[in-house]
Amino acid sequence: MKGKILVIEDNEQNLYLIRYILEDCDYEVFSAWDGKEGIELAASLLPDLILLDIQLPIMDGYAVARKLRENRDLADTPIVAVTSYAMPGDREKAMEAGCSGYIEKPIDPDTFEVQVGKYLSMKVNKERRQ
Ligand code: MN
Repeated sequence: MKGKILVIEDNEQNLYLIRYILEDCDYEVFSAWDGKEGIELAASLLPDLILLDIQLPIMDGYAVARKLRENRDLADTPIVAVTSYAMPGDREKAMEAGCSGYIEKPIDPDTFEVQVGKYLSMKVNKERRQ
């Protein structure tokens, strides 16, 4: 296994596609349908990377990212916002909330794994420096 990835995503089709691509690339994929479940799962799993949908029920992705960053064990975990919201300022909002980066929907199966791999290597580099 190349690493544990937690996907917080409420859209079944998006989750299916993400899981399909990542499992095919030998990642171990875990998923949550909403922020509350995602935060709990992240705390127990301590994944190598979190993919976070921004449009989620109850708690939006920005609130989820802030909450995830309150957990010291997840302080260095790359959190990547995945959203179709291509609104100006959205990227900044995601970064302010604690996200490490941003992948735009619709997901491009040809580039998705490379994008995810880039964010995963952020954590690896950080660990090597310590
Ligand atoms: Mn959504």
